[in-house]
Amino acid sequence: MKVEIDTKLCKAYANCTFEAPEIFEVDDATGKAHILDDGSLENRRDEVERAVDGCPVGAIRITE
Ligand code: SF4
Repeated sequence: MKVEIDTKLCKAYANCTFEAPEIFEVDDATGKAHILDDGSLENRRDEVERAVDGCPVGAIRITE
């Protein structure tokens, strides 16, 4: 499972960090989300899917 964040779309709403706090973090300096631990994504598909659904700008995408 791979997850991409479109940083051009991300507006730091932080919904993803609420839905999956161990996977997503918003960088205070850049104001963009990034992935903390992509090694645990496969076991956390439900959280990732909630983050995808919760992102108001559709910036998170599961690519495989
Ligand atoms: S929910 Fe979407 S817009 Fe908000 S920080 Fe996460 S990726 Fe960015």
